[in-house]
Amino acid sequence: MEIVGVGEQLRQSEERYQHLVHMLPDGLLVYSEGAIVFANHAFLGIVGASSLEEIITLPIKNFIHFDYWEPFAATINYLIRETNPTNSVYYKLHDMNQGTVEVELRAVSVKFDGKPAVQLIVHDVSDQKRMEASLQEKDYLYKSLMENVVAGVFVGHKNNIVYANPYLSEMFGYSEEELFKLSTYDLVSEEECNKVKAVVLDGMERGMDHFALKFKGIKKDGSFIYLEGNSSIIMFNGQPCLLGTVQDVTFKEEKERLLRDNAKLYQKMIKFVPEPIVLTDEGIILYVNKLAMQIIGINDDAEVIGKSAFDFFHDTHRDTLKETMQSIMSSDEATPFQERVIIRPDGQLMDVELSSIRINNYMGKDVMLSVLRDLTDRKRSEEILIRSEKLSAIGQLAAGVAHEIRNPLTALKGFTQLLSAKYPEQPHYFTIMSNEIDRITLIVNEFMTLAKPHFSQFHNEPLEPILQSVISILETQAILLNVELKVHYDQSHPMVYCNVDQLKQVFLNIIKNAIEAMPEGGEVSLSVTTMKDGYVHIRIKDGGPGIPEDLIKKIGEPFVTTKEKGTGLGIMISTRIIEAHKGTLQLSSAINEGTVVEITLPIQELPPSLG
Ligand code: ADP
Ligand code: MG
Repeated sequence: MEIVGVGEQLRQSEERYQHLVHMLPDGLLVYSEGAIVFANHAFLGIVGASSLEEIITLPIKNFIHFDYWEPFAATINYLIRETNPTNSVYYKLHDMNQGTVEVELRAVSVKFDGKPAVQLIVHDVSDQKRMEASLQEKDYLYKSLMENVVAGVFVGHKNNIVYANPYLSEMFGYSEEELFKLSTYDLVSEEECNKVKAVVLDGMERGMDHFALKFKGIKKDGSFIYLEGNSSIIMFNGQPCLLGTVQDVTFKEEKERLLRDNAKLYQKMIKFVPEPIVLTDEGIILYVNKLAMQIIGINDDAEVIGKSAFDFFHDTHRDTLKETMQSIMSSDEATPFQERVIIRPDGQLMDVELSSIRINNYMGKDVMLSVLRDLTDRKRSEEILIRSEKLSAIGQLAAGVAHEIRNPLTALKGFTQLLSAKYPEQPHYFTIMSNEIDRITLIVNEFMTLAKPHFSQFHNEPLEPILQSVISILETQAILLNVELKVHYDQSHPMVYCNVDQLKQVFLNIIKNAIEAMPEGGEVSLSVTTMKDGYVHIRIKDGGPGIPEDLIKKIGEPFVTTKEKGTGLGIMISTRIIEAHKGTLQLSSAINEGTVVEITLPIQELPPSLG
């Protein structure tokens, strides 16, 4: 073992401690009587000195930032009284280049070379401060981002709002303090609460860091706000929390609602439109109303919905229809009504007219609305018009012909009389000839009056000759059909205030119907009776098959006919004429017994005063 002296031992121990002191990460400084007597490497580093020699003997005050002289003096005072070290406090020091160093400083009183001294332990916090400052800056940055972002941001923990940015509180109309007292779900409308809870729970369970959030919120004033955004689960204060950012989409939602309402309105309107309507989307039938179903000949709209509208037209029309459809969809105008023939599912062909227009945004789509019109009735009345046109043309022709016949008839009559005078031994033939010529003249005259235009001229006229002239026209037809016309007048010879031509037309219609009811022959009886009630009753009775009950209700409506060549206008016109004469016309019928038509007309005893 090497023997060393006490001095040497001490020297070795001092070296060891010196080494340790120099290796300390914190600065160490000793000063005595106001001047620096020792400093370790770390301190030299803090103040930027290159060696101990540079600072030794310098006054300590040189290194204390003048803002801290006062607290430093207080520290010294403390150390004079106390042996315990001071707490670590924040100080600013000057370094060798007149820069500032931020430190934390502890002081303790010591002895140095037998003299009272102060030892300072200096911990450089500049870096930490800088870091803190930058952290604070970042914090500030994030905070200001949060506060100024134009979206609502909130953090919820276990249903409590632990953070909400000003935008969110403004959105909902709460102050920030009020928000913190609320549960997260106080902001969600009642009807959507469970839905939102489920979404959040699902998100949490699946650990999704992003999921969409969409809900109807409720504001402080009770009004609704529609929100859309994202949320994620974050760790906040060591707890899993819900971070959400939301945007106010009320405007968008309102617009969508408006569109939906519009669509509903459309649907309602379409349902109430009293026209047959079909809605199609690119040719596919979306909707048909009841009236359209009648035209198409279906009872259930399911039979056509989803089918192509083109199926209802003949193949050869398909291309033009497609073209028309395209032009409709690119225009705002409705097409004029166009005649088309549709093929009903039962195979029947229908004459229809079609007009179509584009409808925007029906259930979110642009669709085509077509209005149908049944042309069958119109076609039929057109035909009838044509026929009555023909009839009146024939009537006029007949009048012309009648006129032509009348003149030769006059000649014939004259010569017949001349001949009968020349051959008195054969009076019988001439009488027949003369009577027949009279009959022809009568009929021809009647033709002429019927064909004459009808002026509604009313006069007091005896009824019997009016009836008689009609009978003479119909007699021939009656004989041909083996029908006997029996007439009975009650000898009252009533006068009626009437339009002769019109009354003739009525009797012609009614008696003709009676004859036509008995194609196998029979009897038509006519009776004219003046009643005490001031009316004359004209009764026309036939022995035909009668009119079934369901039909008799309809008779008198236009075009109701059971005859192949009938017009279904006779009774209607007759009734109108009789009503214009302040009379009545009634049909009664018994199956297999015949039909009775009873006409009443007011009797005119005296000519009405014309004044
Ligand atoms: P049209 O004679 O042209 O058919 P009308 O209006 O005169 O038109 O008559 C309508 C229908 O009423 C007839 O088609 C027929 O079915 C029925 N009808 C009218 N009169 C009689 C009658 N005397 N007997 C049986 N049916 C009748
Ligand atoms: Mg008739």
